[in-house]
Amino acid sequence: MKAAVLHAPYDLRIEDRPVPTPANRWVTISVEAAGICGTDVAVYEGKYAASLPRILGHEFCGRVLAVGGDVDGLEPGQRVMAEGSWCVGGEAPDDGTSHDPCMSRLALGRTADGCFCEVVAVPSSTVHAIPNSIRATEAQSITTLATAVRATQRAGELVNRRVVIVGPGHAGLLLLQVCLVAGVQSVSVVGTRDSRLHIARKLGAESVSNVRLASHEDWLQAPAHKEFDVAFEASGTASGLAACFELARRGGRVVSYGIINGTLDEVPGQEIYSKELTILGSRGAEGCYGEAIELLASGSVAVDPLVTHVIPIDQTKEGFAIATQRLEDALRIVLVP
Ligand SMILES: [Zn+2]
Repeated sequence: MKAAVLHAPYDLRIEDRPVPTPANRWVTISVEAAGICGTDVAVYEGKYAASLPRILGHEFCGRVLAVGGDVDGLEPGQRVMAEGSWCVGGEAPDDGTSHDPCMSRLALGRTADGCFCEVVAVPSSTVHAIPNSIRATEAQSITTLATAVRATQRAGELVNRRVVIVGPGHAGLLLLQVCLVAGVQSVSVVGTRDSRLHIARKLGAESVSNVRLASHEDWLQAPAHKEFDVAFEASGTASGLAACFELARRGGRVVSYGIINGTLDEVPGQEIYSKELTILGSRGAEGCYGEAIELLASGSVAVDPLVTHVIPIDQTKEGFAIATQRLEDALRIVLVP
């Protein structure tokens, strides 16, 4: 089978690999569609740890190809998606909170071979059935959508709250839609690319602002734009987190949702103290996949406006080139066999 294998940063090769066979309690899945996520780009650029060489990719959907022993409820041909990681390191005692108790995980595309290939093997415990009504180019976004659901859960009460999202990428634009479903009063979106902010408006953002334009200063001066109840950092940058601290109201909540690599030199610590901000981290999507699938199946969340490129797996290198060059119109790049 064809597989996109990363040997070193920027050294991605399309190779012919044997089709995996499922071990006990594992299944193999024929990939229908896989999305290039920001984490994949960080691995590709050597900014996020991975054991190489490795088949990249962790967000996908497909059909069950073969089922190993001791697997219930899954059969060949069934449409499914699988979670991007699974627990291998034991679990901490349940402390009654929603925190993920797993001590150590294996992750597709980083520490286990991923889904940028024709057939991927995963533990059956990570697999979720999806209805036929969800098209493959939509279903490949379920993993990110599930992380957005988790971020809204971490944020606490959202009904009638005024929300700002910093970072209108694939994750931020799914989060925008989940916030609207959760009953927020309004969502504003702050970003650096007009094409993405335009999509945010179309998906229901009340206001948007481009930090690279002079008009952003005017936008910030509006009283409503300094008083957000909840600020989500979805860009994965320290400057995005700094913006959240400034946009949140006194007593507001800041959710660190984008993966920030590195330190936080630019963050205005005084804001945390003087506004008595509550800061929450949101990692992964434990327990949120079912709700994500339901949001897509019901049509409450749209993925199509976010998919800008659909390209064959043997052009994965071109897909990463589009993603790393930060081309103006590129948003979600989807690989298909
Ligand atoms: Zn991802």
